[in-house]
Amino acid sequence: MTVASLHGLARADVRAIPLYAPDRAPCRVDLSNNTNLWGAPPAALRALAGALPAAVARYPEAYAGALRQALADYLGADTGVALGTECIVTGCGSDDVLDSAFRALAGPGDVLAHPEPSFTMVPAFARMNGLRPVAVPLRDGVALDADAMLRTGAPIIYLSSPNNPTGNALAREAVERVVRRAPGVVILDEAYAEFAGTSALDLLRESERLLVTRTLSKAFGLAGLRVGYAAGAPALVAAVEKSRGPYKVNALAERAALAVLGEDLPWVRAHVAEAVTVRDRLTSELRALGLEPLPSVANFVLVPVPDAVALAARLRDRGVGVRPFTALPGIGDALRISVGPWPLVADALDALRAVR
Ligand SMILES: *Cc1c(COP(=O)(O)O)cnc(C)c1O
Repeated sequence: MTVASLHGLARADVRAIPLYAPDRAPCRVDLSNNTNLWGAPPAALRALAGALPAAVARYPEAYAGALRQALADYLGADTGVALGTECIVTGCGSDDVLDSAFRALAGPGDVLAHPEPSFTMVPAFARMNGLRPVAVPLRDGVALDADAMLRTGAPIIYLSSPNNPTGNALAREAVERVVRRAPGVVILDEAYAEFAGTSALDLLRESERLLVTRTLSKAFGLAGLRVGYAAGAPALVAAVEKSRGPYKVNALAERAALAVLGEDLPWVRAHVAEAVTVRDRLTSELRALGLEPLPSVANFVLVPVPDAVALAARLRDRGVGVRPFTALPGIGDALRISVGPWPLVADALDALRAVR
């Protein structure tokens, strides 16, 4: 059977979803996807090198028990919120956790409300699960409008703080208001919380309908291994885990993640601190160029520019990858630039000076 004839077999709503295919042609300086450009934590690499035969031939733990315990301990140390293993669910990246949660918590035709601009995968995962994504514009492109979000009446409200691609943290009061008044579940994506140094995880103490997602892909330097997780009340977590299915964190990823959580948190924290320094320096250099970057608490900076796609293409020609966004509500066209070791960022700034 040809690919063309197979195409007609997919569900109509799935056929309508564009393939997520960012420009990932290899380039000299890749500042396009917010991963850890300092590399992977050494303890993870040691664990991988030592783990091979048994980890490859056998199934991993079905529900990643040891990893969930280590993640609960980490969150407790990081935020002061004590959680048990039954409050944590892992997944093949936090993408997998979001996808599983959408499927577990709402049904075909239900609305999933999300801010705009926000994480581009969210409306895609909503559609893949038969949900109807409804975009609620952020005020001035950055501020959460709690009442507009609540007015959707959506059984799932997705929020991201710090928000990707804008880089700002959502106001605590607005997040609280949504969590307290939402008719259904609120999913708060904290993929970049380590860089912001703040978290709303403590709201789990007052809501059993809040799920906070995190990832080891950004601050922890394990993007290629695909490890994400979420924290929430045991009943909520159990539903997400059931919809996710067993064995989603592979055995090598689990070992590497356990090694970092056990031995390399100082490595993670040191590189977070360096990312914050470089981010603030990048922000001031962009201002010195006469641009108006959005203040960021994440490991990337969003800078409005005219015709972002053309500018990103000119940067690519010079070996520099950044992520262009077009017509963001309240912002317009913009480039999102990830931070990494200063020489890489300086290289990108040189290219930007040359092409704009
Ligand atoms: C990068 C990112 C994620 C997820 O990444 P995984 O690699 O799937 O864990 C989730 N949310 C946001 C907002 C992100 O930017």
